[in-house]
Amino acid sequence: MGLLTEGHPLSWEETKKHAQYVREHGVEQFINTYKELKDRRNDSLQWGDEVEFMIIRFDHEKKKVHLLLKAHEILPILMEPENQNPDDCTTLWRPEYADYMIEGTPGKPYGYLPVHFNMVEANMRLRRQQGQELLDKDEYVLSTSNFPRNGCPDCSWPTYKPTTDTSASASLFFPDEFIFADHPRFKILTRNIRLRRNSKVAFNIPIFIDTNTPRPFIEDFSIYGDTAGVNTTAAIKDHIYLDAIGLGTGCSCLQVTFQAQSIDEARFLYDQLIPLTPIMLAMSASSPIWRGYLTEIDCRWNVLCAMSDDRTTEEEGSEPLKNECFRIPKSRYSSVDCYISPDSAKYNDQEVVLDMNVFHKLIENDIDHLLAQHIAHLFIRDPLILFEEQLHLDDTKDTDLFENINSTNWQSMRFKPPPADCDIGWRVEFRPTELQMTDFENAALVTFIVLLTRAILTYNLNLLIPISNVDENMKFAQQRDALRHQKFHFRKSLTTEQTPDTPFLTSIQKNKSQEPEYDKTECEHCLMTINEIINGSNKFVGLLNIIQNYLSNIDLDADTQDTINQYLDLISRRAAGTLMTNATWMRHFVANHPVYKHDSVVTDEIAYDLLWKMTKITNDEEECPEVVRKKPSKTTLDVTAAVEQDNNELEIKQSLINNNQ
Ligand code: ADP
Ligand code: MG
Ligand code: MG
Repeated sequence: MGLLTEGHPLSWEETKKHAQYVREHGVEQFINTYKELKDRRNDSLQWGDEVEFMIIRFDHEKKKVHLLLKAHEILPILMEPENQNPDDCTTLWRPEYADYMIEGTPGKPYGYLPVHFNMVEANMRLRRQQGQELLDKDEYVLSTSNFPRNGCPDCSWPTYKPTTDTSASASLFFPDEFIFADHPRFKILTRNIRLRRNSKVAFNIPIFIDTNTPRPFIEDFSIYGDTAGVNTTAAIKDHIYLDAIGLGTGCSCLQVTFQAQSIDEARFLYDQLIPLTPIMLAMSASSPIWRGYLTEIDCRWNVLCAMSDDRTTEEEGSEPLKNECFRIPKSRYSSVDCYISPDSAKYNDQEVVLDMNVFHKLIENDIDHLLAQHIAHLFIRDPLILFEEQLHLDDTKDTDLFENINSTNWQSMRFKPPPADCDIGWRVEFRPTELQMTDFENAALVTFIVLLTRAILTYNLNLLIPISNVDENMKFAQQRDALRHQKFHFRKSLTTEQTPDTPFLTSIQKNKSQEPEYDKTECEHCLMTINEIINGSNKFVGLLNIIQNYLSNIDLDADTQDTINQYLDLISRRAAGTLMTNATWMRHFVANHPVYKHDSVVTDEIAYDLLWKMTKITNDEEECPEVVRKKPSKTTLDVTAAVEQDNNELEIKQSLINNNQ
């Protein structure tokens, strides 16, 4: 999650009044950070994941599964070790949007040692256990991106009914009691998004039309209570209507943050990972069921974009501009709009809306065009939440107001400048990935992405394609079973002039020149299946082959090697379509459930059976060979022996070098 400032929150009117102040001082803070730290070099590779777990409760008698509104009870206990001894924790915990969510990260970021890959899964498992130990009978920690019946009547424990007239979201489906209340941030965000846009948020997901789905499908909202006076005109036929920020922001995801050696490396990495965001979204798809219905989408992404959309009608273009400054094509929750490294400029082929005052100010302060453009684009947004204390900060020492805007631009990647008052370098965050039901899969996805960053940096690869094509890929990625049925724009050759002259990479180059099809067109990219992108073909090297080559050139202890091999095997099989995504498996489960009527409805009983099965799979009580074929990995929390071995080897190498000199 982003910044969690404590203090006295201002009303929306006050926040809006101070919007310009926030922007001016936020930019000033960025300029100061940039001037002070632009030459910071040689930070070590550090990285860490974030898992937003969901807590649920089963009623075995009634065959019902509920979202368990208990984060406010268990989080203070989970955070106790950090409060006692912040420098020595194995895990860290934070609140998230909903009271059924708990966010866990490793106690410290992982480092450059390969053995750290062997800790990820064990640490995720430990987090799950820590949560689980604080729950009662029939209550469980689950990891998946969307609760299939979130927003249905009686979907929580305890039960609450939405109060459309007095609540922050004014939703017909999502009661305010679901929002985590022990930090003011979440309810205020909810209220202010609605107040800023001057209407409820709305999104319609196309329903999956099964053999018995009524046509047209028109939902009767009267089961949600008294709908008199509730405007449901935004609902359209053959779609599932959502009307609450929480139905998006209350979804969970899997994020990874990397620290780069320098600002230049961070910018390079930020750009290089952008084309991978849709690919990882499709690979991790786990959200096919919304408000109790099977739908045509497999991922949460567009729902979140719509549910966090604070644009006014003038900004989004349905009314002429009168009071607002900009037409803004996308929600503040959206895929990245521009690359930020100087070398990437030619791939920025979409209009980027800028606050020109901010842009000029940055340019005057010797910030180059692309970085200035990125920041000036983020700063077209208003602050959504402001605390009184933030109005009296020292711009030379604080970064809170910069973070206020940066951390409420929820894009598929985030560029994270060093925060004030700590020794953290330039970081980037990879944000699209959906959560998987097992720690094994989550660790595999994280490991794959981190290894890819290592290979990209080591071989100086280039994955860039025009940003408009990445956006198109984001649309493809969310379609039902995109992994097997869609093709994605991807770069034909990833090597550059700077790519080192190793036999493996030279052979990729050779392949390229021998391949006549590449010469037929000027275009650097083409449409590929995810199988081709990941596993390669006779025309394309495949990301896994690059990773394997990278791994063959570094020293790995046997256990880590074994674990990584298993993760890469999962990635390979999933990309090939021989293992299902979580989303596809869920669809199969519903379709084959004895009480499913082929009418697109995922009833309480089906959801109960589905989540009970998932809980057992998560806890290794049942296997799920359609999704994950694994022997227990050798993941471990204690890597002391392997680290010692690594250090000894380093010392031996160093002494050999010294002796040779
Ligand atoms: P967010 O603002 O996205 O919530 P956090 O700062 O809470 O991000 O941390 C996200 C992840 O970044 C965690 O896994 C954490 O271990 C990791 N992390 C913390 N410090 C660093 C660092 N210096 N470099 C890279 N990753 C870090
Ligand atoms: Mg988070
Ligand atoms: Mg994060």
